[in-house]
Amino acid sequence: MRYALVSDIHGNLEALRAVLARLEPGDGLLCLGDVVGYGPQPNECVAAIRERASVCVLGNHDVAAVDGYGLKYFNPNAREAMAYTRRVIAPESLAWLDGLAYEHREPRYLLVHGAPVDYFTYILDNPAAERALERTDAPLIFVGHSHIAEYYERVPGRENLVHKHMQHGGTLQLTEGARYVINVGSVGQPRDLNPEASFAFYDEAKSTVTWERVPYAIAAVQAKMEEAGLPDALVARLNEGR
Ligand code: ZN
Repeated sequence: MRYALVSDIHGNLEALRAVLARLEPGDGLLCLGDVVGYGPQPNECVAAIRERASVCVLGNHDVAAVDGYGLKYFNPNAREAMAYTRRVIAPESLAWLDGLAYEHREPRYLLVHGAPVDYFTYILDNPAAERALERTDAPLIFVGHSHIAEYYERVPGRENLVHKHMQHGGTLQLTEGARYVINVGSVGQPRDLNPEASFAFYDEAKSTVTWERVPYAIAAVQAKMEEAGLPDALVARLNEGR
């Protein structure tokens, strides 16, 4: 089975559609959370993920949309965007988000938004990746949250983790016995200096993870954001990928 893994869509329907267009009909779709927040079309993104994905775990923006939890940790722009999200989000979108779990485990992999156990912790360096690997026995941990496409690899017998950025795409051949933290990057608001939408394929049979970047109509999303009255800084950052 080949799975596409998406994260941090953030109400950006153009980016999500461009990514979904890369999937073959037989591909599975797994979502790592933050379907809403920041962007102009939370309901449309919820509907698209709900229809196509077999699993979606909760992100911090999804939780904030449902019950306001964690809003005090949001910066002013994120908070303002969340106020918009909560104004326009439909009851059925909220009910679906409210039914999501914080994690999903399969024998080979774990899906969490930020990190195992501490679901909204950022994995931004080797020590954080080490802690994540200690907190689960899953060989693969798939995450989003930081909006940075990258991976950490623990090879048995080797002292340090291998850490690689994948912001221009590329394939990782998984090694039997090694363990990984895999960040698939962000569909709707990349922050690794590449403005193209990020996602990854996990091919179980080939034991590979392939990151892809997908161009989409950024200007069209920005026009919708301006119309929605979303903060200028959130509009501008989509061009820069930061
Ligand atoms: Zn996010």
